[in-house]
Amino acid sequence: MPQSPLHAGLPAGQPHPEWLALAAQGLFLEAAAVSRTTSNMPEICSRVCPQERLCEGACILNCRTEPVAIGAVERFINEFAFHHSTVEIARAPANGRRVAVIGSGPGGLSAADELAQLGYAVTVFESQLVPGGLLVNGIPAFKLEKSIVERRIELLTKAGVEFRLGVNVGRDLGLADLRREFDAVFLAVGAQQAKPLDVPGAGLAGVLPSLPFLIQKNVPAMAGEFPPIEVAGRRIVVLGGGDTAMDCLRTALRGGAQSAICLYRRDLANMPGSRKEYYNALEEGAQFEFLTNPLELVDNGQGAVSAVRCVRMALGEPDASGRRKPRPVAGSEFTVPADLILVAYGFDPVPFPAGSEFAQIATTEWGSLFVDNDQMTSVPGVFSGGDAVRGPSLVVHAVRDARKAVAGIHRFLSRPPVQTAAAQFRG
Ligand SMILES: Cc1cc2nc3c(=O)[nH]c(=O)nc-3n(C[C@H](O)[C@H](O)[C@H](O)COP(=O)(O)OP(=O)(O)OC[C@H]3O[C@@H](n4cnc5c(N)ncnc54)[C@H](O)[C@@H]3O)c2cc1C
Repeated sequence: MPQSPLHAGLPAGQPHPEWLALAAQGLFLEAAAVSRTTSNMPEICSRVCPQERLCEGACILNCRTEPVAIGAVERFINEFAFHHSTVEIARAPANGRRVAVIGSGPGGLSAADELAQLGYAVTVFESQLVPGGLLVNGIPAFKLEKSIVERRIELLTKAGVEFRLGVNVGRDLGLADLRREFDAVFLAVGAQQAKPLDVPGAGLAGVLPSLPFLIQKNVPAMAGEFPPIEVAGRRIVVLGGGDTAMDCLRTALRGGAQSAICLYRRDLANMPGSRKEYYNALEEGAQFEFLTNPLELVDNGQGAVSAVRCVRMALGEPDASGRRKPRPVAGSEFTVPADLILVAYGFDPVPFPAGSEFAQIATTEWGSLFVDNDQMTSVPGVFSGGDAVRGPSLVVHAVRDARKAVAGIHRFLSRPPVQTAAAQFRG
């Protein structure tokens, strides 16, 4: 059957046209059931996906009028299904095999769901005491209420998925330990190591990475890493132009900041963050200085930041990635006063400790894990997906990778003779 433009715009091959047709007939439970066939968390994706770049961007009505509000419909039908208690994880009879999932973000939760449905015994290891990954500790509650994630985790627990929290795999538990207990491993450890700010003054008090700030404001139970970060009445400057930067701006303004200014080195057209998030931030009072780069953070004389010295940028020729490279404009320096700087320059995967068997997995020069077409890493039986493989990406991509990896794990463990594949993993 030829693909519709909408099908072509969907990253996980979702049957959106099919469930939209059911929803249009008022068959909401049936529509939700169809939407769940390709997503392990449609109630979450419908809230956080940048639909304007994905499904709504591919809607054929776009050339004529507004696109169908696909995200809003998906959210409604799935909440309707939860309200009518029709959402559950159908578990196949136990197949006698065990899989360890490392990380409880959207990648780990989706893999656990898929594996449980195939009859695997699943244990999710999570280094934090609160499960959910960036769904809980990165994405602010005003975009995704924490109760929505908790409800998903409860469903998994009911389906028999075990959660072992506060266990840092690689440090507290090695691959050899996992091999003794499990037949395969899915690494969904994300990419949460902040890219550094490399200008004079970066070490001043009042200069913070974005994620600990968001975690403190989002999850009081995890706020221990930094002393309370005060934003009320203060002038906040956010460096970077992605979704994390937009979340910092809005979180600061909602916390009573006097001002929240985003400094981004390219222009709006080249900003990586979702347009929806940009307009939301603008509406809430955020200010934007495009084509602006920090040169230095200014000391207030007592070791704390008081301003950012900036330079204007101009866009030059496209670089290897196709994006126009920004270059400084001579003589355009200016200063932006600031009491708190939040650095949102993106993330890299956190490397496993040197000496850990996990550190032997082949990686790219940015530290993301190499995988084959089945999402298997260079170590047989160890699979991966989501941000750990792609670098910072989207929830829907982590879900898609997890589903692909589980299909790969199932093939790996079902290959005849079964003992050979398992023996390969057990080494
Ligand atoms: C501030 C912010 C806002 C975002 N907003 C959006 C948005 O609006 N829409 C969207 O689609 N995407 C958004 N994203 C991106 C999205 O959250 C990620 O792409 C997605 O969460 C990646 O899922 P994951 O499962 O690969 O990793 P994560 O969600 O990062 O989960 C990884 C988990 O693994 C755990 N872990 C790591 N190492 C270990 C270890 N050694 N042992 C045990 N556990 C470990 C971590 O604690 C974490 O819980 C945002 C990201 C950020 C930072």
